[in-house]
Amino acid sequence: MKAQREWCRNMNHRRSDAPVRHCPNCGETVNMNIPAKKCSDNEHAESRMNRNKYCVHCGLQLMK
Ligand SMILES: [Zn+2]
Ligand SMILES: [Zn+2]
Repeated sequence: MKAQREWCRNMNHRRSDAPVRHCPNCGETVNMNIPAKKCSDNEHAESRMNRNKYCVHCGLQLMK
């Protein structure tokens, strides 16, 4: 997991106040101040359609 940060170019990693808790590209926590959310399957399906690899709310892996 740690090695992924090296190549993840998602802009959320560069922000100190990222609008989401998890990076949609690598799933790493980018803003710990945002509380983790319990998502529904619907939200994950929607997130998947937005081509997110990981859920930005809970960090769950959406694509394999
Ligand atoms: Zn990332
Ligand atoms: Zn989620």
